[in-house]
Amino acid sequence: MTRSSSTKIVRTVAELREWSRSLRAADGPIALVPTMGALHAGHASLIRAAASTAPGRVAVSIFVNPMQFGPNEDFARYPRSFDADCALAESAGASLVFAPSVEELYPNGAATFVEVEGLDNRLDGHSRPGHFRGVATVVAKLLIAAEPDLAFFGQKDAAQVAVLRRMVCDLRLSTRLVVCPIVRDPDGLALSSRNVYLSAAERARALTLSRAVRHIESLVASGQRSASVLIEEARKVFAAEPAARVDYIELVDWSTLLPVDTATPGTLFAVAASVGSTRLIDNTILR
Ligand code: AMP
Repeated sequence: MTRSSSTKIVRTVAELREWSRSLRAADGPIALVPTMGALHAGHASLIRAAASTAPGRVAVSIFVNPMQFGPNEDFARYPRSFDADCALAESAGASLVFAPSVEELYPNGAATFVEVEGLDNRLDGHSRPGHFRGVATVVAKLLIAAEPDLAFFGQKDAAQVAVLRRMVCDLRLSTRLVVCPIVRDPDGLALSSRNVYLSAAERARALTLSRAVRHIESLVASGQRSASVLIEEARKVFAAEPAARVDYIELVDWSTLLPVDTATPGTLFAVAASVGSTRLIDNTILR
């Protein structure tokens, strides 16, 4: 894959900031799409949404953030495909790719961190201690560096969205967060950079997550509102596929990430499960 030509690639915060400030004089918003690379059609949908709102002013960051991985997680083997990522980013409408080194974002190890108390220990933050501290810290760095008017995130990481919304509010950052729908394979599996870890047999088992999501959506559509009933129904879906090991099944308020007793419009139904050594997540915002 040849590296993109019209999309500029920069490695330092100073260059990202200069790009943003040089555009600020011109009319129209500046957009940022934070990613860890290994880009797929889900990332492309975010970049396209950004480019339709901020044409010619979209930065995509590609940074596998060590701080959001636990000691026994997949940081070292996380898929990396920089040239293909640049080509995908360009074809989806990115003007700039920001690909910093670890030292660039964490100079001298860095001693300053962002914690979103009360939210960062919920859902994935409960199973992955320190994960959301790492996410909030790196996204704060990116928003401060790029000063985007808009930053695009996927509903795929719904708990992350809740943590980042609260961070942006608390720090009085001027960036507006835009949340884009989950992009799925035709059979329902939510696209994820980690899907490449799955064997064919594991991929079939991974469909249990989207099956549970669809089951809950249809129960809610037919009038079921009880959180305990809905969670029990989701557990039954997983019970039929024991090779998909449940981490959590939760019905929560999407702002606070606290459990609810009754599903109402806007309630987040979220699941996490491991298939083999791959941890997967999925969710839906109930109507
Ligand atoms: P990541 O590279 O996994 O950190 O993801 C970067 C951004 O892409 C995050 O805002 C994710 O929520 C979003 N994203 C990942 N997978 C999908 C998907 N299947 N559909 C929509 N957005 C996604």
